[in-house]
Amino acid sequence: MLYQRSSALFAEAEKVIPGGVNSPVRAFKGVGGTPIFVRRAKGAYLYDEDGNRLVDYINSWGPMILGHAFDPVVDAVTQRAKSGTSFGMPTELETQIAKLAISMVPNIDKIRFVNSGTEACMSAIRLARGYTKRDKIIKFAGCYHGHSDSFLIQAGSGASTFGVPNSPGVTQGTAKDTLLARYNDIENVSALVAANPNEIAAIIIEPVAGNMGCIPPVPGFLESLRELCTANGILLIFDEVMTGFRLAKGGAQELYDVEADIVAFGKVIGGGLPVGAFAARNEIMNYLAPVGPVYQAGTLSGNPLAMAAGLAMLEALNADAEIFQRLEEKTAYLENGIREVLDKNGVVYTINRKGSMISVHFAPDVVTDFTSAAKGDNDTFKKFFHGLLAEGVYIAPSAYETWFITDALTYDDLDFTIAAIDKVSKNL
Ligand code: PMP
Repeated sequence: MLYQRSSALFAEAEKVIPGGVNSPVRAFKGVGGTPIFVRRAKGAYLYDEDGNRLVDYINSWGPMILGHAFDPVVDAVTQRAKSGTSFGMPTELETQIAKLAISMVPNIDKIRFVNSGTEACMSAIRLARGYTKRDKIIKFAGCYHGHSDSFLIQAGSGASTFGVPNSPGVTQGTAKDTLLARYNDIENVSALVAANPNEIAAIIIEPVAGNMGCIPPVPGFLESLRELCTANGILLIFDEVMTGFRLAKGGAQELYDVEADIVAFGKVIGGGLPVGAFAARNEIMNYLAPVGPVYQAGTLSGNPLAMAAGLAMLEALNADAEIFQRLEEKTAYLENGIREVLDKNGVVYTINRKGSMISVHFAPDVVTDFTSAAKGDNDTFKKFFHGLLAEGVYIAPSAYETWFITDALTYDDLDFTIAAIDKVSKNL
């Protein structure tokens, strides 16, 4: 495959946009080479500026559960745009999507819409701090909750890819209020809580981590976190930006039957438009302005195009009783196929998967936290990535990202992908 036009477009972009991209991980720094510029996408496929077709395993980093340019979403957005694209005033649509989301997700009474996952998580911790009147939060090494200051402490995703987990520009004052724990290590979390009595407002976690590759919680971990939080007056925040409306209708809360106090959403809830949201029970949500004292706002929050897209997306997911089972089956099929060819070709690997989130770690041992994820062989990953790209399969350009499976993938697409992995893994 040729990528001449993408290379030329990237060179132009670099002149006017830092690194040529508007979000770092897109720049291929982790894998080398120049990023692919997309012209359009439909269903499970991306079509790039050089005319190549790629089977897409990123799916806009999660939201395209039902495929790119999903007709009900496209129709809803185009229809809505004709009536105006932003008012900064309430619309009925906002209540409609709020009601639907609340009916799908357990344990929430109210929801507020924002414009990104970053905003959702940032607002969730401000709310938790205001509600508990405490300053500190605990996050897990390798988890990513967006790029707001409090979270850029050992963050995963692009921050790990580029080896700058702690960003300059985050003040010492902010950093000291973020305590770091080891994912899947409840003793470690308990010790932090014990060492900071009555000071921790919230523990925020990706209930299935997706920003250090896919790392599911070990059995009992989320339940123990719940107990620890309840016993110590700490709010448990599930960052379901990846897992919400993907692992189950009610996200990880439903899947693991563990209640969070605040839930953050992103990506899926906007059907691919820039949307995030956070939600909780009444007693917590009523702490928000204009009802309560915790300030949070947004000119474009609840934007009608974004709400129309999100509503169409959630309606489609809600109406499809088999969607999550189908995704599970397709991803299990892919997992088995990958295992077969990697075993046959003698590759050292670990596959982690939960539902339709899956990643191949080129690591010899089980991957349960950031330290074990970081043991993955990045040179092997780079060869794997570029090999697959040459075969027309697009996975995230970083070993620290998960793959997101879309229902638009057919079993032929999955076989095509497994055959590509077979071919590529002979030369790893
Ligand atoms: N939380 C998680 C779990 C994420 O994966 C991401 C983005 N990948 C975010 C928060 C931030 O979302 P956004 O990029 O929309 O700001």
